[in-house]
Amino acid sequence: MISQRSVVACVALMVLLAACSVTSFAQRSASQPAVIPSPKSVLGFTPGDDRTIAGWSQITDYFERLDRASDRVLVQTLGQSTLKRPLIVAFISARENILALPKYKEIQQQLADPRKITSNLQRDRLLANGKVVVTISCSIHSTEIVASQMSMQLAYELATAQDPDTRAILQNTILLLIPSPNPDGIDIVANWYRKTLGTPYEGKEPPELYHHYAGHDDNRDWFMLNLKETQLITRLLWQEWFPEIVYDVHQQGSNGSRFFIPPFYDPPNPNISPLLLRQVGLIGHKVAADLQAAGFKGVLTNALYDTWWHGGFRTAPYFHNSIGILSEAASAHLMTPSTVTTEQLARSSTRGMRSAIEATTNFPDPWPAGQWHPRDIMGMEMISARSILEMASKFRSEYLRNFCELGRTSIESSNKGEPQAYLIPAGQARDESVAKLVGSLIDQGVEVFRLDRELHAVLATQIVRRTNPVAEKVGSYRRLASLNSSSMQEVPTGSYIIFLSQPQRTNVLALFEPQIYPNRLTAQGEAERPYDVAGWTLPLQMNVDAPAVVAIKEQPSERKLTLLTDTNEVRADLALPLKKGDESPIKNPLKQPVRVGIYKSSMGNMDEGWTRYVFDTFNVPYSSVRDTDMRQGSLNAKFDAMILPSQTATQILNGNAAGTFPPEYTGGITDAGMKNLKEFVTGGGMLICFDNACDLVIKEFNLPLRNVLEGVRSSEFYCPGSIVALDVDNKNPIAATLPSSMPAYFINSSAFAATSDASVRVVARYAKENVLLSGWLLGEDKLRGQIALAEVSVGKGRIVLFGFRPQHRGQTWGTLPFIWNALSSATATSTEE
Ligand SMILES: [Zn+2]
Repeated sequence: MISQRSVVACVALMVLLAACSVTSFAQRSASQPAVIPSPKSVLGFTPGDDRTIAGWSQITDYFERLDRASDRVLVQTLGQSTLKRPLIVAFISARENILALPKYKEIQQQLADPRKITSNLQRDRLLANGKVVVTISCSIHSTEIVASQMSMQLAYELATAQDPDTRAILQNTILLLIPSPNPDGIDIVANWYRKTLGTPYEGKEPPELYHHYAGHDDNRDWFMLNLKETQLITRLLWQEWFPEIVYDVHQQGSNGSRFFIPPFYDPPNPNISPLLLRQVGLIGHKVAADLQAAGFKGVLTNALYDTWWHGGFRTAPYFHNSIGILSEAASAHLMTPSTVTTEQLARSSTRGMRSAIEATTNFPDPWPAGQWHPRDIMGMEMISARSILEMASKFRSEYLRNFCELGRTSIESSNKGEPQAYLIPAGQARDESVAKLVGSLIDQGVEVFRLDRELHAVLATQIVRRTNPVAEKVGSYRRLASLNSSSMQEVPTGSYIIFLSQPQRTNVLALFEPQIYPNRLTAQGEAERPYDVAGWTLPLQMNVDAPAVVAIKEQPSERKLTLLTDTNEVRADLALPLKKGDESPIKNPLKQPVRVGIYKSSMGNMDEGWTRYVFDTFNVPYSSVRDTDMRQGSLNAKFDAMILPSQTATQILNGNAAGTFPPEYTGGITDAGMKNLKEFVTGGGMLICFDNACDLVIKEFNLPLRNVLEGVRSSEFYCPGSIVALDVDNKNPIAATLPSSMPAYFINSSAFAATSDASVRVVARYAKENVLLSGWLLGEDKLRGQIALAEVSVGKGRIVLFGFRPQHRGQTWGTLPFIWNALSSATATSTEE
């Protein structure tokens, strides 16, 4: 068997075999084939070759072969993706580490929660024996396809290399390599690429969401955990393995820098430890230097991408005391090379980079334009991965110590003016939202306790912002200004309490506090766009009451608490149906059956995907309505209600332009579809529009409403992904059971004024004052008191217009009842008529 191996292995391997443990290889050879297959020998091409692509079954097949052939590789199936493909992780390390994985997992779990470490001696032993756990995740965004192909080559090289540097990496680190956290998307892209190869559409991105529900938002789900994929990987990372370093490999547009690597751009999230930000920067600069040394040009740091937002593959680690690294290589056209001109580079600018041809300190060596191949992307990603592993290996004990220390600081930290805990009081009458909120926390490893007897505590429901303008600029604020006057209250048995004294202290703060995004303006006085959303406070999005606990009367020994470990414990507490297997346990909230259509554009629309997600999760039946269905008409015969998810008027009407895609993917609903929609409404149907889709409907139906934010400059008004307050008319059936004041999600959304109020019934308005609850709002006066949700009668039917996003990213459970109430009244109206 040994000689068989050496036939394909290099001379170095033969030297090694001569030098060291021959018996161990002989022992393995009894059960394993000796030859480690290269990706080329299995796929028939080298990953990264122009116009080649490996689909998911080829990738998993390759990793299975590697698992069988190499004692450095162990492949584990985590579970099934949304569309039932296997989601895998490959553990790659030295043979002796792979054989002792349970031991290293145990060490990680102790380092992650220093309360498990009882003496300095024990800690020193853990630091001496532990390995740095590194996660590398490839192509969560499936059109950023090269990393998924690269993963096979990276695994092969780590499995076969015998040089001292690689051997040191393997000895000191354990790599959790995820070839893709979105297997379904790999096949959507691979199938589309093969189908269009050699046609005029070669290299175009597929005209559909590359995640069944989320599309690109599959990387916005890492605290909400709506998707199967995020649930499975979150369990792996934050309940089992606690990696010290997480590297998420992406691609960006084609015409800018060739490669972005941290340090990131401003603003930083104030809850991220400065030590982590420094470590992120250190690794980033090491990668940038290694790329430069290897002759790669066009590497950019300190630009565009920031650490403000939460919920990404590489942002979630910051709130688990870990280092999150992002890289963004310039894209080719999927696996087809692209040509980039100097003019295109010159026009490419972003925060932190004026132009991709101008040398600056953070971009010292611009790329000189030309052909750009998948191989270039792969080369940079391979060096980057290698560089990060080298850092992890060389500074092994530092990474372990810092990780452990950050956990200890989180547990011991008790900053003055900060709450001791957050509370989710029992008896809120929003049981499904409470179960989902607490369940998501448990699933990401946050400690949540149930009170088994009442407690007396000082609660602060109002978290007051600092008014000092200097402090506001840097995003800091006073957390509990009004707490001193509060008095002890009784907190009922069955409430949930989340103490800040736990390893995930910053995660709890980042999810429960309001975000106060600093005012950042360009030199021209326009708002500087944040990379992602500005606010996401989870209890606000879910309209769950979650006051801060300022003081507790009972001593810790007197408190009766149960630590929750399973979502079903919460569901059982609340007498909700339990979660079994894959099925959503939530009961359909509609009062009677309604035939619902959800418009599905042939362009792929994330808001449409999330709408389906919410309907599937709440077990509300619906049919997707395609452009062709809209054009054909007879909609009343099939539907009682039609939903238009947020999308621009042009996209809904025109879809993809003729010639840009195969004919079956071009054209929107067209004028014919619009005529059919009008017939549907006048004939008694209910039309529900979310945010941007309202523009088209207001215009085409000539409704007496006007979007007051249309065309307003960002110097006058700006509100990117924030939580705002609504005043609700809960006598309107659409707002039945909802409070008169509540939060809603606004993401560059809409606000209406009624031009004549005869037929307009206002269900909710943006609050008259203190509109912003979390995030960033410039020009509040533009929003105050304007219509946020209205219904208008048209013929025998009705149109319901949401200015905000009632189902944003599947996170805004607080505003979902508006949708269920509207639908519940859909058939009632047609029956009356
Ligand atoms: Zn991406």
